[in-house]
Amino acid sequence: MTRICDDFAYGDGPVETCFWNETINAAPYPPLAGDLSADVAIVGGGYTGLSAALHLAEAGQNVVLLDEQQPGWGASGRNGGFCCLGGSHTDSASLTRRFGATEAREYFLTERDAISLVDDLLARHEIKADTHSNGETVLAHRKKDLRALEKKAREISDLYGVSADLMSKADLTTQGMGGSFHGGLTIPLGFALNPRKYALGLADAAQKAGASLYGQTPVSKISGQAGQFRLTTPQGTIEAKKVIIATNGYGRESVPNWMAGRYMPAQSSVIVTRPLTEAERQAQGWTSLQMSYDTRTLLHYFRLMPDGRFLFGMRGGLRTSSKADQGVRHLIRRDFERMFPAWRGVETPYYWSGFVCFARGLTPFAGPVPGQDGMFAGFAYHGNGVAMASYSGAVLAEQVLGRQTLRHPKAILSPPGRFPGGRSRRWALWPAYLAYGLSDL
Ligand SMILES: Cc1cc2nc3c(=O)[nH]c(=O)nc-3n(C[C@H](O)[C@H](O)[C@H](O)COP(=O)(O)OP(=O)(O)OC[C@H]3O[C@@H](n4cnc5c(N)ncnc54)[C@H](O)[C@@H]3O)c2cc1C
Repeated sequence: MTRICDDFAYGDGPVETCFWNETINAAPYPPLAGDLSADVAIVGGGYTGLSAALHLAEAGQNVVLLDEQQPGWGASGRNGGFCCLGGSHTDSASLTRRFGATEAREYFLTERDAISLVDDLLARHEIKADTHSNGETVLAHRKKDLRALEKKAREISDLYGVSADLMSKADLTTQGMGGSFHGGLTIPLGFALNPRKYALGLADAAQKAGASLYGQTPVSKISGQAGQFRLTTPQGTIEAKKVIIATNGYGRESVPNWMAGRYMPAQSSVIVTRPLTEAERQAQGWTSLQMSYDTRTLLHYFRLMPDGRFLFGMRGGLRTSSKADQGVRHLIRRDFERMFPAWRGVETPYYWSGFVCFARGLTPFAGPVPGQDGMFAGFAYHGNGVAMASYSGAVLAEQVLGRQTLRHPKAILSPPGRFPGGRSRRWALWPAYLAYGLSDL
């Protein structure tokens, strides 16, 4: 089983002090012990795999989902909880060049649909996930970024058919988003949630719909072909007619071999404060529950949560060792204090990190694996997978069933190419981060 980062990243070290773990208890799903057969086997129990499992089980399929740790253990149980637009890391002009204007538009409407899908899943399955925030607000960290926000406001209206609200510095202060920002743009799409409650709620819904979920069950090999795939795990095998790969940044080069070189794990990190007092919130001028991020390419994302704690996230490091992780904890704390100076003395007892995932073409993938009839994969949401991974799972379920009620835009059906550099491909992130960091100054 070939993984491309240090073992530390695939263990519990990065989530030892994850705040979400304290917000919900869940009985672990048992390991697979014995041999089973299924219509569909799903490898990976994050939003992609869980959403696929739920939709397939609701359609009457016999579904088995396997996670090497536990459902919700990966990025899905540890993210910032921004259920928002995004999923690709590219702009409208390049999507239009690659797929044509109609398909580019289809892709952006898909991003909007993805948010509605999560909203619908939460309501339909009565998942209580501490939702808040009316859309999201982008904050200009430099004066010159205000012009970019004006352009973005026009794009939002063209692409998503909604009107975004431009705000001056004074408007931000009035709305409780005080700080060093020069202005902002509120996009009225999306909301914030507790990601782990959502992930475990999906797992529960999938199980109730009839899917069989297993934890502590790494899939080390997939052999065979459509109609008779065979998945190898330590204590049992699964014979399945169809297979969905939903391993995202935690994938293996060899599960299946087609994945080799096509996913780029990159770390994202988060800190959470103790509950802030009313006086502390007033002192910083930040009292809004609006989920927000800044205009940097290597952006910071943050939100005051309904319980008064402040969540602050940013990109992680390039190395994936325990020592490197502690270094990132120091850096994230430094940025937090710079951006919210009134909270310099406020403790941040919670810190964690995990993998987001990039694809070479910078668009998400949810489609058939080329040359492997009956095998499908969904991954690469470029740091915005709460909505898009959930949607990809639903799209993959439809592809398995041979149906289509949702949008399946070409942009997400286009299989990603391989990154250069093989298993050492993450080194390419060094110059990229350096260039982005300089462009953010
Ligand atoms: C710190 C952080 C903050 C983020 N913030 C946001 C945010 O605010 N908003 C947003 O939209 N997105 C955010 N993201 C990204 C988002 O969390 C992901 O895009 C999304 O969760 C991906 O879901 P997934 O199901 O594809 O993958 P994951 O949730 O990563 O699940 C993959 C699963 O596959 C399992 N697995 C891997 N290999 C095997 C194998 N061989 N056998 C069995 N199981 C296997 C793993 O154990 C894992 O549980 C963030 C991510 C991180 C790490």
